[in-house]
Amino acid sequence: MLLKRKLCLAVTLIVMDSPAWSQGGAPNHPSIVVDGQTYTPNSILTRNMGTAADQAEQFPPHKIIGNIYYVGTKTLASYLIVTPAGNVLVNTTYEANVPTIAKSVAQLGFKFSDIKIILGNHAHGDHMEGDALAKQMTGAQVVVMAEDVPALAHIKPGGKPHPIDRVITDGDTVSLGATILTAHLTAGHTRGCTTWTTTAMENGKSYNVVFGCSLRAPTVITPEIEKEFNASFKTVRALPCDVQLGDHNSEYGMIDKHARLAAGGSNPYIDKPSCSRETDLEEAMFRAILAEQAAAKGATN
Ligand SMILES: [Zn+2]
Repeated sequence: MLLKRKLCLAVTLIVMDSPAWSQGGAPNHPSIVVDGQTYTPNSILTRNMGTAADQAEQFPPHKIIGNIYYVGTKTLASYLIVTPAGNVLVNTTYEANVPTIAKSVAQLGFKFSDIKIILGNHAHGDHMEGDALAKQMTGAQVVVMAEDVPALAHIKPGGKPHPIDRVITDGDTVSLGATILTAHLTAGHTRGCTTWTTTAMENGKSYNVVFGCSLRAPTVITPEIEKEFNASFKTVRALPCDVQLGDHNSEYGMIDKHARLAAGGSNPYIDKPSCSRETDLEEAMFRAILAEQAAAKGATN
């Protein structure tokens, strides 16, 4: 109840009467205000993706916490999880980025060929297109959520079939060394959108780390997708979280946090309040799109 009230206060819904489609992306309506900032579906998509150059440009690889490292580009997140039994790569992103990710892994002092398991957040090309090439380069096992298998079958750069070595379902775990990752089905953005959780140690303390899957709603929310998101918002809000990560680093303000790393002091990635920020924004947008859809339907009846 408290949450609902908070969302109502924080969100102003402006239903625009004419469609204002942006080029090649999401619409410029509805418009919502969350924490004093205005968002549209298009502004969230632009925030996530940046430019084509941003999607390809290496971001300085760096340690996030414990055995978890950032190895992605300026806007597409990839993570390396290092264990004594080999390493895990989360999100290969576009196939063209795989050599850049390999370069980041090497710059951190690790071997790309030590990657034993490849995971992804969801079956869209900007997160999992590189799976076939990364597997070819490492021999790693590709683990995917059952509900994303049909969509992955369509992601085959250069005609290469999407590699799938293990199919998991909600609640399954993936272990390597002493690291255990748990898969949480947080569907909506794709049918098999997967939020991964694990723990990481820093200064003798264990922290809950959440690799969130995008909660960005599509332009048209079908009753099935509505049901998925309603369940997923609940699931995500119930996850223990000290460190919020995501498939696009803008979802947790990585560029700002990375800049604060250089200043020293406490680890900026340990940021409990940040854990619900992206969920609040995406749920507010989801509700605004639903309201707009209902209003449009009412107008035609
Ligand atoms: Zn996506």
